[in-house]
Amino acid sequence: MRVWVFHNSGEASTNAAHSLSKKLKAAGFTVNPARPDVVITVGGDGTLLSAFHRYNAALDKIRFVGVHTGHLGFYTDWRDFELDELVQALLNDKGERVGYPLLDIQVTYEDDTTGHYVALNESTLKRVSGTMKTDVFIKDNFFESFRGDGLCICTPTGSTAYSKSNGGAVIHPRLEALQITEIASINNRVFRTLSAPIIIAPDEWVILKPATGVNYVMTIDQFNMTDRPIKEVRYRIADERIYFARYKHMHFWDRVEDAFIGAKK
Ligand code: NAD
Repeated sequence: MRVWVFHNSGEASTNAAHSLSKKLKAAGFTVNPARPDVVITVGGDGTLLSAFHRYNAALDKIRFVGVHTGHLGFYTDWRDFELDELVQALLNDKGERVGYPLLDIQVTYEDDTTGHYVALNESTLKRVSGTMKTDVFIKDNFFESFRGDGLCICTPTGSTAYSKSNGGAVIHPRLEALQITEIASINNRVFRTLSAPIIIAPDEWVILKPATGVNYVMTIDQFNMTDRPIKEVRYRIADERIYFARYKHMHFWDRVEDAFIGAKK
């Protein structure tokens, strides 16, 4: 099996990644960044996001495993003091994997060029100076005219990230759904939006048509894109999925409780 250890630049992560790479080599694994079967990230959720984007052209061939150097994250099941158990789990590997939905983003710029991206957590469309004005369509039907800071479209696994800060629901990752949340919408006699999170069915899509002649910021997970004026953005559930090698199972709602409430400790 070919394994790669992808880590952030922090001291704890670098040390844990070096130690893990040594243990993997000693156990007989090929540790190489080219065409890995398993990518182990060492850091936090942000490190897993970076590895996802690094390997997003080969998602059907890769399984991810997350090691956290702090407390458990949403994409990280292992802690840095469990490296020996992780190597043992890889030695016993039977190819088991669990897949979660991703967000497909098709952008048409004002000059009619296009871009295609995939997000693990979410994509937002925002305006930093002044308010954003965009028409929102669901399944090609006009839904509302939004005015405010921006809109966020998230995956189920992304629902505990930015979307939650916008008042979005936490969605169980087994559900195939997308969620739209508003970022500071203006609601008065002139502008009116639903002012509630919207959950989109698997066979539906969302189109944003922002007002022309204005530069918006589009985010895709940890990336910001501000380069070109946008004519239209289409969001739907991607054909690809992200796969995790799940060697141990943590109940999803226990993970949510542990991350956000912590009363069981
Ligand atoms: P970062 O380091 O600032 O991370 C932000 C926080 O989000 C970290 O605590 C991380 O653990 C957490 N996080 C990431 N994915 C998560 C998930 N699926 N569920 C729960 N928590 C999660 O930034 P980064 O590492 O570059 O990560 C980018 C992510 O930050 C974006 O995808 C977005 O979700 C999040 N973000 C959140 C806000 C907000 O809540 N107001 C604003 C901007 C970005």
